[in-house]
Amino acid sequence: QAKEAGRNQFKLFSPQIQKQVDERIQIETELAHAIENQELELFFQPQVNSQGLCYGAEVLLRWQSTKLGFISPAVFIPIAEETGLIHSIGDWVLAESIHCLRIWRQRYTHLELSVNVSAWQFAGNTFIDKLKVTIEQYQVCPAQLTLELTETSLLHNLQETKIKLAELRKLGFKIALDDFGTGYSSLSYLRDLPLDEIKIDKAFVDEVDGITAQPLVESMISIAKHMQLSVIAEGVETSVQKTALLNMGCPNFQGYYFAKPMNKQDFLVWLEGRDWGEKQ
Ligand code: C2E
Ligand code: MG
Ligand code: MG
Ligand code: MG
Repeated sequence: QAKEAGRNQFKLFSPQIQKQVDERIQIETELAHAIENQELELFFQPQVNSQGLCYGAEVLLRWQSTKLGFISPAVFIPIAEETGLIHSIGDWVLAESIHCLRIWRQRYTHLELSVNVSAWQFAGNTFIDKLKVTIEQYQVCPAQLTLELTETSLLHNLQETKIKLAELRKLGFKIALDDFGTGYSSLSYLRDLPLDEIKIDKAFVDEVDGITAQPLVESMISIAKHMQLSVIAEGVETSVQKTALLNMGCPNFQGYYFAKPMNKQDFLVWLEGRDWGEKQ
């Protein structure tokens, strides 16, 4: 009975919350070894222009944990950010992506890869240097690499961000603003930041045929064009959405309607025999 009481003293949370805490600790523990255990894998989701021609892909990280099974990046990326693991994971994703560009160079000379970069990773002091070293090591053209950043990462320290972005662009890398329209800030930062592309978030694409989203998306495309930025709509799932976006002048697309994210092998099969296009 004493044992029972003793155990109860540690019941700080409800069993349900306790379970969540345990899961979270397990994820942290396993994630710390995911790279050395070779549990991480790059997936590739094709990006196509208005003619439906592929010019590149977004790199999306997948984690198949031996102990925990498949875990979505929406779950483990935030944990990687909170624990600092994002630095080694982010480095790994960039190095692997650049390695792919190197290997595929012979056959797919102009293929572009778009890589997600976390705010913490971008804020790191060595981010640009490491990127530079890797690109030189593999002798890959920086213009084939787009770095996808979100508003939150860019607005954190605006002055420093501007300097970093300018340096990256001077080196030849491209910068995309991911999840555009989902943040809280005004449009004025668009003018202030050196960017190459905006990615219209799926939340808008989902409702692109509705009366509220349509003028919004139309404005986003027109603003981007006026600022000489490229635009891509992400999360396009239906031909209705695609047609609506095309009619609004959207030049580039990504989404299940065109192709789902695929592992390296399937992506190469998908690419086989396809005509190439350019980003518009
Ligand atoms: P994101 O960068 O905005 O990526 C787009 C997400 O939408 C991906 O989810 C993609 O699989 C999904 N998606 C694409 N087309 C469709 C569609 O037509 N319908 C639906 N329902 N979904 C679609 P995923 O792969 O689960 O990644 C989620 C988020 O995790 C990403 O959002 C990104 O923020 C983050 N992430 C993924 N890989 C990395 C990485 O290597 N590094 C970092 N820092 N973050 C990553
Ligand atoms: Mg992205
Ligand atoms: Mg996005
Ligand atoms: Mg997102």
